[in-house]
Amino acid sequence: MSTFQAPKGTYDLTPPRSATFLAVREAISAPLRDSGYGYIETPGFENVELFARGVGESTDIVTKEMYTLTTKGGDQLALRPEGTASVLRAALEANLHKAGNLPVKLWYSGSYYRYERPQAGRYRHFSQVGAEAIGTEDPALDAELIILADQAYRSLGLRRFRILLNSLGDKECRPVYREALQTFLRDLDLDEETRRRIEINPLRVLDDKRADVQKQLTDAPKLRDYLCDACKAYHEEVRALLTAAGVAFEDDEKLVRGLDYYTRTTFEFVHDGLGSQSAVGGGGRYDGLSEMIGGPELPSVGWALGVDRTVLALEAESVELDLPATTSVYAVPLGEEARRVLFGVVTELRRAGIAADFAFGGRGLKGAMKSANRSGARYTLVAGERDLAEGVVQLKDMESGEQSAVPLAEAAAELAKRLG
Ligand code: AMP
Repeated sequence: MSTFQAPKGTYDLTPPRSATFLAVREAISAPLRDSGYGYIETPGFENVELFARGVGESTDIVTKEMYTLTTKGGDQLALRPEGTASVLRAALEANLHKAGNLPVKLWYSGSYYRYERPQAGRYRHFSQVGAEAIGTEDPALDAELIILADQAYRSLGLRRFRILLNSLGDKECRPVYREALQTFLRDLDLDEETRRRIEINPLRVLDDKRADVQKQLTDAPKLRDYLCDACKAYHEEVRALLTAAGVAFEDDEKLVRGLDYYTRTTFEFVHDGLGSQSAVGGGGRYDGLSEMIGGPELPSVGWALGVDRTVLALEAESVELDLPATTSVYAVPLGEEARRVLFGVVTELRRAGIAADFAFGGRGLKGAMKSANRSGARYTLVAGERDLAEGVVQLKDMESGEQSAVPLAEAAAELAKRLG
């Protein structure tokens, strides 16, 4: 241990567990890459205003959870708390929407930062894989994204997750509902902060996790009863497409999510093995966001899946991913001369695309074989002075335990053959 530790609310990814994180990122992004989504990467920090406007002034993320800083040059920046606003900003800046190819479909993977109260599954640094489809209003696009997330979770072997679905209406019907909800909420027994929230963003009150608040919300007006015909038809089409694809979902009219920019389709993926931090991913349609950050009208939809919680979900379901062995061949030299020769063979193997590792540090046979075992290598190459004098190396199959002498000059080719 050094004098230092990882900052509060963060943790390090170290082998072997880190391999699962890589596999999860890969599994979530694979269906996107196969569906026309291109990779995008944006900076880890942005102008703080982008999030204030894009995520919403009244959200917890903006009011309480952003890591903000002032640079020496006087710029007000924030570590990114989420991906959508940045991705949309970048797409607009690069004029991707003007290439005549809508929707612009993008995926991303990276670190996000929120100054939250740390607990199991909730960290101050976490990682997400996300997808955004920008510039098109089409229920099939909403359905596509939900289906691809479902496919990703299933490909990982997850089963105990559920999809919650709702529609938040649009700029026609939501204001009418908002007013009805405000009238209802103003009569309830609520604390000062929640009262303020009624005036700024009343839908967020529905999201309140406290039991005494939830109890008072039983008779709150339902958004479903206020949806305009266009929103209703849109939502029915998303539901029908999901059903046709065999993707099960639950209608959840209380689902509003913590970000201001959502319109129409909203959804969340929850996992039943995670306790209170049960959301493994979520997203929805954000038709007004582009205009909120100074862009043209670009109706869009997207999601972000949390990598950390997906790994926790795998652990909760005791799913062991079938991770490929990282090392196929492990070389154990005995003596100076063998070190030079086997190091050459390892280099040759690696250039031929075979994963190979080497017992560094001039270790004895016993210790080196222990490392060979731990590496998971299928074969070990052992050579001492006598072998070299005879022009051979000992090739050991770690599964069968069989060992045979192979001419040194043929060792790499023989291994390539055996490993297919
Ligand atoms: P959100 O942007 O809040 O909808 O988050 C999308 C997903 O990111 C969530 O479903 C979580 O899986 C993950 N996530 C969000 N905040 C955190 C956090 N503080 N710690 C770990 N994962 C998080």
